[in-house]
Amino acid sequence: MPGPERIPTPSNGKKDVLVHNWHLESGIEYKFPKKILFWDETLRDGEQTAGVYFTPDEKLELARKFDEMGIHIADVGIPAVSEQEKESVKRIAKAGLDMSVLGACRTLKSDIDACIECDVDEISPFIAASPVHLKHKLNMSEDQVVEKSVEAIEYGKDHGFKVTFVTEDTVRADMDFVERLYKAALDAGADRLLLCDTVGVMTPRLFQWWLAEAMKRIGKAEYGVHIHNDFGMATANSLAALEAGVTVVNTTFGGLGERAGNAPFEEIAFALELLYGRKTGLDLSKTYEVSKRVEELSGVPLGITKPIVGYNAFTHESGIHTDGVIKNTLTYEPIQVEMMDGRKRRFVFGKHTGTRAIETRLAEYGVTNVPKETLLKLQREIKLHTEHKLKAEQGDFIERYRDWDENHKGVTPREFWQLALKAGIPTPAKARKELPAR
Ligand SMILES: [Zn+2]
Repeated sequence: MPGPERIPTPSNGKKDVLVHNWHLESGIEYKFPKKILFWDETLRDGEQTAGVYFTPDEKLELARKFDEMGIHIADVGIPAVSEQEKESVKRIAKAGLDMSVLGACRTLKSDIDACIECDVDEISPFIAASPVHLKHKLNMSEDQVVEKSVEAIEYGKDHGFKVTFVTEDTVRADMDFVERLYKAALDAGADRLLLCDTVGVMTPRLFQWWLAEAMKRIGKAEYGVHIHNDFGMATANSLAALEAGVTVVNTTFGGLGERAGNAPFEEIAFALELLYGRKTGLDLSKTYEVSKRVEELSGVPLGITKPIVGYNAFTHESGIHTDGVIKNTLTYEPIQVEMMDGRKRRFVFGKHTGTRAIETRLAEYGVTNVPKETLLKLQREIKLHTEHKLKAEQGDFIERYRDWDENHKGVTPREFWQLALKAGIPTPAKARKELPAR
């Protein structure tokens, strides 16, 4: 049983998080696996984010960046989706990357054939497992699901792939069926088993219980998890899963993905390194730059308050916080900004600004020895100016942002009916009425 893992103490420099090292003092044991594999989903599940689309060049560029960071596996798309997608996957598979390039596929021969054409390193045939998916979506019996899965795994193995068997909505499936299905998958030759919380309904302790039960019943294998963030639990659940003995985590940059997204790469990797003192072996210095690139190419802005990569993650305005950070960054920054290339600490001047920040800004420009009174005067001016200025600009920004989200994600409502017309469907009167005036 591994002992508590050592976290650098404050005197050790930049990576101090807890200051008081409760990890050591509490004696809590973390049972993480020796090797944790990061399986990136940005180019597949991330691309399935509403309104997101990557070109083949963009996918290749991002795949190279993930590879440079040391990410272990990347699901780069479903080749059967389109000719262009196949082209994307093929180019990444041929790019000579160190990471394992994975093609996703349904449990269909034709989908696996598309992966064969792309010459990927591994495949992940997937099918749904829960009663609600089987009954309402697939209209298949449990027996049929087992049969399809076994066929697909055997076909993939016959073609020399490493095969990860995946079921959607695993955690809402019947446990007896999960056991039967995954045992059949192992018998058919599956190399790795991926268990999914497709709609993000697990909690950390429940997930640990569920995983222990599932893994005990299915037996020894390499396990991974795919977790969605509908309740904001994806990071906590991923870490809980790793503690429960799972060795592979699916993540996306910035938590991109269907609905509320996937488990965010940056949160899990930084938590492992800084909170738990676990080396990931990844080059995290590139996290911000890669996240910004994903932001640009996906068109999904990084959240303002998003941990680690969000716009405000290293931004301070309030006088008390700024004063503390200027004296010692450990006061209000658990993560040191210097860990990431291109990421800078920022002080915003506004209603809550204190004189310390003003003094520091002036000193940066060689203006020193400013009397306290003058500093206070400038502080008053800044506060007054902000209070008058912010609301109008802010309202405008939010309005434009909402308009973009509503009307420009994917095709616009007008474009939809124009394209429908092209396909031979005339625009109905109801739609004409709803379309905004040009
Ligand atoms: Zn997903």
